Formats: sequence, structure tokens, C-alpha cells
Amino acid sequence: MFRYFVNGIAVTPYITIDIDKIEHNTRQIVSLCATREIKVSGVTKATCGYPQVANAMLRGGVISIADSRFENIIRMKNAGITCDFMLLRLPPLSAVETTVQAMDISVNSELDVLEALSKAAHKHTKQHKVILMVDLGDLREGIWIDELIPFVQQAIRLTGIKIVGLGTNLACFSGVVPSEDNMTKLVQLVEQIEATFNLHLDYVSGANSSALQLISSGQMPARINHARIGEAILLGRETIKRKAWPNTFQDAFTLYGEVLEVKDKPSLPVGSRGQDAFGQESTFADRGKIRRALVNIGREDVVIDGITPLEKRIQIIGASSGYLALDVTNANKTVSVGDQLAFSVNYSALLAVMTSEYVEKRPINY
Ligand SMILES: *Cc1c(COP(=O)(O)O)cnc(C)c1O
Repeated sequence: MFRYFVNGIAVTPYITIDIDKIEHNTRQIVSLCATREIKVSGVTKATCGYPQVANAMLRGGVISIADSRFENIIRMKNAGITCDFMLLRLPPLSAVETTVQAMDISVNSELDVLEALSKAAHKHTKQHKVILMVDLGDLREGIWIDELIPFVQQAIRLTGIKIVGLGTNLACFSGVVPSEDNMTKLVQLVEQIEATFNLHLDYVSGANSSALQLISSGQMPARINHARIGEAILLGRETIKRKAWPNTFQDAFTLYGEVLEVKDKPSLPVGSRGQDAFGQESTFADRGKIRRALVNIGREDVVIDGITPLEKRIQIIGASSGYLALDVTNANKTVSVGDQLAFSVNYSALLAVMTSEYVEKRPINY
């Protein structure tokens, strides 16, 4: 992909990635989880498997790296990272070979896929580890509770795979909150499976960043022993209320764009109006004449609702694919062409920025 470089360095926009802060956040989360004997896998997907982020997580004490994309895991492996890798998204039937070859463990919920994984594992003289995902109500991936025992009965016959645990994902799709109740349910299912099939499940993987409160309050049932944590490490927030987690940094990532134009113009568009470039009919408040700045960040790079100017007196008006329009009338310092403005990012903005080929990634403090 073409990018505009000067002396080998892309100019703007760019995102700084504070590797030290990510390592610090990891340590905090890992030690919180350790108080309940919960091991942590670091989830790198919001950074597209950025190798230095994975290394910071590993230095901070995670037992493995988990990501939802093959490409990300392969990128980290190619960068020389040698830890265990967990595939967090259900593997597609078309990629069972890659799954058994490149992943140490994957999450699963379909028998057809497990059969294919088992076959592929035999072909490569391997045994592939799987965590069975159980749906406790968030209605994304997972086996419905009533179907779990018959499912395991079938899956256990497949000799190319080894069922090493049960997992569940909450607070992602429908916002269902992890509770002592639903976590106890997961533990009961584990115990039922262990008793019925005479096996031991190593992983009881109940937690993601939404479970921090439950863990720190001491209400997480003891048998839950594994957490897959992304946002709390990357952005220092639990994900039920998005509260900043104590002793973590919320600003490991900062997005910078450059001011391309500054003009005093009306706050209301002139002329009769139809849809904008994205099929929306926006409304604007009449605040008279304002000072508007255009920045070289757009919807192609970021989720606009997910960024916040660090300078609180600057307001986002809107964005097109390549321009971010700001009201800089009340900015503390006069905004001029060529200024680089900083923005914090939330999880969805981070995901988009890291995915955008137009935004340079700049690791700092490593
Ligand atoms: C993304 C993901 C996680 C990490 O969630 P966070 O809220 O970022 O901690 C955990 N488990 C699964 C299955 C995921 O897809």
C-alpha cells in the first residue's frame, strides 16, 4: 500500500503505542487475576496482533497470546514470538489445516468443524487442543447449555482433538454481565462434564475485561481459572461501565492528525440540503460563525464517535472518508495549519486505527 513517506517516516496521521504502559497495565491485571488463581491470556486483536504489544503483554505475565485472526497470529509468529497462541474466533471449516498447524489451541462450538480439525490434526500427526464455548446468554458464539452434554459425547470420540476446557464470552454481543450466577453455571457444567466423561478440564475460561469487578470483589467462583483480556490491558478499562481500572493507564494509545485548513465559517451549511456522502441527513446547531479546522483523519481510518480531542475545548463536528471537521473556536491555543492534534481512542476506534493502512504505527517507550 502506498503511503506518503519523508525520510522513511510517514508523517501524519499516526498513532503512538506506549509499550511501557501496556506492560504496566498487563502486570496490574495479571496480579489482580492471580489473587483468584486466574491465569491470563493477552488479547491482541484490537492492535491487529502488533508484535511489540504482544511482547509487552508477555513481559507483564500473560501465559499466552489470544487473537481472533490467523493473519495476526501469523504476524506475531513471523516476528519471532514463540509463546502459545490461542485462536479466539471459531475456526472456519475452510481453514482447519491452518488452525492445527499454526494455533496451539482454538475455541469451538460446531461438531463438523471439530471433525475436520481432528482429521487435519491426524494428517499432521498432531493433537489439537480445543476449548468448547458455551453460550450463557450473550447470544454470540457457543453451545446452548441443553446441548452441551450430547455435544461432548460426540466430540470426545474425535482422537485428533483434545477438549481442554470450557469457555464463555459475555458482555460482547448483547452486553450480558458476568455474575456469580452465570459463572457458577459454567463451573457446574465443567463439573458435570468431568463426572460424566471422566476427564479433567484444565481451562475454565470464564472471564474477559468485563469480569474485573467480579474478580476483585471476590465473587468469582474459585474454579474459574482463565481469563482472556484485551481492553483492560490496552486501554485500562473494565467493560461493563467502561470505568478506568485503578492503577492502569488509559492513554497507552494516542492518535495524531494534522491540521490542513483553518477557516472562520458559519456553523450552519448554506443552501438546501440532501444526504451527505454517507447517506445521512445530519443536523447542525446554529452557533453563528465558528473557527473550523480540517484534520487528515477520516472514516477510512477511525470510528469518529470513538475519538476524543485531548484538548477538551476542541469539538468534533463530523467527518468524511478523509477529513475530520473540528470546531476550534474556543481552543486554549490558537490552532494553525500544520499543527498536530492529539486524540484519545476507545476500543472500536483503536481497532479501526490499527487496521487502517493509512495510519502509521509508532511504538514509544520500549
Ligand atoms: C475479544 C475477545 C476477548 C477479549 O475481550 P476484552 O473485553 O477485550 O477483554 C475475549 N474472548 C473472546 C472470545 C474475544 O473474542
